[in-house]
Amino acid sequence: LRIGLRKNVFISGIFNRGFTSETVSKLDGKVALITGAASGIGKATAAKFISNGAKVVIADIQRQLGRDTAAELGPNATFIPCDVTKESDVSDAVDFTISTHDKLDIMYNNAGIACNTPPSIVDLDLAVFDRVMDINVRGVMAGIKHASRVMIPRRTGCILCTGSITGIMAGLAQHTYTVSKSTVIAIVSSAAAELCQYGIRINCISPFAIPTPMVMNEMNQIYSGLNDARLREIVYNAGALHGANCEPEDIANAAVYLASDDAKYISGHNLVVDGGFTRFKSLGFPAPDQVA
Ligand code: NAD
Repeated sequence: LRIGLRKNVFISGIFNRGFTSETVSKLDGKVALITGAASGIGKATAAKFISNGAKVVIADIQRQLGRDTAAELGPNATFIPCDVTKESDVSDAVDFTISTHDKLDIMYNNAGIACNTPPSIVDLDLAVFDRVMDINVRGVMAGIKHASRVMIPRRTGCILCTGSITGIMAGLAQHTYTVSKSTVIAIVSSAAAELCQYGIRINCISPFAIPTPMVMNEMNQIYSGLNDARLREIVYNAGALHGANCEPEDIANAAVYLASDDAKYISGHNLVVDGGFTRFKSLGFPAPDQVA
């Protein structure tokens, strides 16, 4: 009986190992460039891409953190300083990827910032609006432009962009961030219309709120005086799907899927990763005076 049991465990072990998603390298031999990958969603995606067999160039404005992240992720990660508001930086990051790895298969335009501007449009700070659009929109445009420059001659490639649920459901964030993210979704549709003739796929991923440094910084300003654990709890409790929290790894898994051959016929799509939040009336974030 003991031998029989061991044999079963052994056989099921082999069977499982062959079929679990963690052991299947969905991006074997692929080369990816990810903006804003020193932290948060970009970093989690870089790690997931590497564990799926890809080489990743991390492009970020935070030099020290970018270098530390690349060192943490190991020899298949490289860092290049890049400010996505500077077209020459984005162009250089693409050229650096080609000169280091001979090709660019996946461009993920993920860098972005939030803004805690006053809620009323009457008080809109247009300088802040310009700054956010510069990073969240113009930076994405620059990434698509320069990725396309090197992908079109190869007649293949995959481009991803980070949108947000705030881009599809108004009233969740301030006007500036909302406008920037709905524009990213529109850019993806527009670019897909041209790039499909070259066999290049472009898709958007729109996450629900995740307590990354960007969001924690904003939460600290909105709910001042609360500690990080309580702020994380507020973010998680705002989700609609019980029994799960939205994590950077959920976005990374969506990115692996869209970048892989599993999604070979998906382009111009906005993959919403929100546990259903935007599909029905949900509670969302409490007003600051309603929490302790
Ligand atoms: P994060 O702050 O952890 O990461 C953002 C990264 O972008 C940072 O490493 C930052 O240095 C980099 N960055 C900022 N400005 C840059 C610039 N000009 N050039 C290059 N890099 C720059 O935050 P995150 O939550 O991981 O954000 C990643 C993306 O996800 C953003 O586009 C954000 O708008 C989007 N998003 C986040 C959430 C969320 O709840 N965390 C939800 C929806 C969408």
